Amino acid sequence: MLHLSFAKLKAADAMMNTQQKLEILADAAKYDASCASSGAKRKATPGGLGNSDGEGICHSYTPDGRCVSLLKILLTNFCTYDCVFCVNRVSSDIQRARFTPEEVVNLTLDFYKRNYIEGLFLSSGIIQSPDYTMEQLIQVARTLRQVHKFGGYIHLKTIPGCDERLIAQAGLYADRLSANIELPTQSDLVQLAPEKKSSVIETTMNQIHVRKQESDEDRKKSPNRKPASFAAAGQSTQMVVGATSTSDRQILSTATHLYGEYKLKRIYYTGFSPYPEADSRLPLKATPLIREHRLYQSDWLMRFYGFDATELTTDENPSLSLTEDPKTTWARTHPEFFPVDVNAAPREAILRVPGIGYRNVERILSIRRYHQLVLDDLRKLNVRVKQALPYLITPDHIPTGAAPKEEPATTQMDLFAPVSALTGSI
Ligand code: SF4
Repeated sequence: MLHLSFAKLKAADAMMNTQQKLEILADAAKYDASCASSGAKRKATPGGLGNSDGEGICHSYTPDGRCVSLLKILLTNFCTYDCVFCVNRVSSDIQRARFTPEEVVNLTLDFYKRNYIEGLFLSSGIIQSPDYTMEQLIQVARTLRQVHKFGGYIHLKTIPGCDERLIAQAGLYADRLSANIELPTQSDLVQLAPEKKSSVIETTMNQIHVRKQESDEDRKKSPNRKPASFAAAGQSTQMVVGATSTSDRQILSTATHLYGEYKLKRIYYTGFSPYPEADSRLPLKATPLIREHRLYQSDWLMRFYGFDATELTTDENPSLSLTEDPKTTWARTHPEFFPVDVNAAPREAILRVPGIGYRNVERILSIRRYHQLVLDDLRKLNVRVKQALPYLITPDHIPTGAAPKEEPATTQMDLFAPVSALTGSI
């Protein structure tokens, strides 16, 4: 194993041109999944450059489905930490490189002018100290914004444990900030990332959250003065899954905690991939991509469909099914909840029908005010009718075995009561 000193890094660095560094540092950044940009609105100023307005700016997808930005780079892949699961850890025998902040600024502007990118996703290994590294990242964003009036999207990785004043500065220049939670639990960190602590990472997340809240409130109070916004597109995080035996149940519980406490916009789940000569504490096999996918589906159900993390797995079976999506698993194991009458059930109940997405639920609610929906109407909405049939009722469909039930003597909406009880329609 090779342990690079900072002096050696500088010497190696001086021998490389920008193109060579770009190859190394763009490749090193591909393991960071938290790059999708959305929700930022930053107009170019007169004489400025770039315009980040609306959703979906600056993202692309690798062949294996991971989201990557076209200029998604590390400032350096040198790192003084030794997180076992990370290819950039200090004990990893890889080629190292380091950009200066000016080089990143020039590359961003150059790529932007050529229409290759609409923004920058910038992360870094930890060099010297969290404060020093964060200062370097901020310098890139500040120069782009203040000197070059760059209006494109900027996502900065924050370095957990850096000074709070640096977080305050970073949020003034970046559209999105993120602090990686890295692994689902503190005991996972002890095992595989001994220099990291969830409490330190969460302190940084909280600093971002509090600053953002204050900034949003200030802007609401003074719409005319328009105080500078802080990380307008919010904060996100990333966790590696499958590097330890931590269950999906625990992962979803951690996700619930992070969304609830710090109002994260997104959590990115990255399945662990083994690498040559990996530490013996790591699994030999890659985490199946389908597990990553099931976690994203569950995350979506928790954020947009009203599911609680505890509903998606059980203590006895803490893993998500790899062969069935979590919404269907829940529906199949809760026959008492179904069938749902799409013409009468409340929004929360229709959201639980497999095959009906949340946008279609809104459409159904709006259409049914004027007429009763039949199966053909659902097909026209692109509802996955075949998947939904066992769980719903329409005037032209009652699932086999679904018998009309008596209306109970309550008018109270109870989400977990049978939908027939909610609607009294069958
Ligand atoms: S701190 Fe980040 S870059 Fe450094 S080894 Fe850990 S995960 Fe990798």
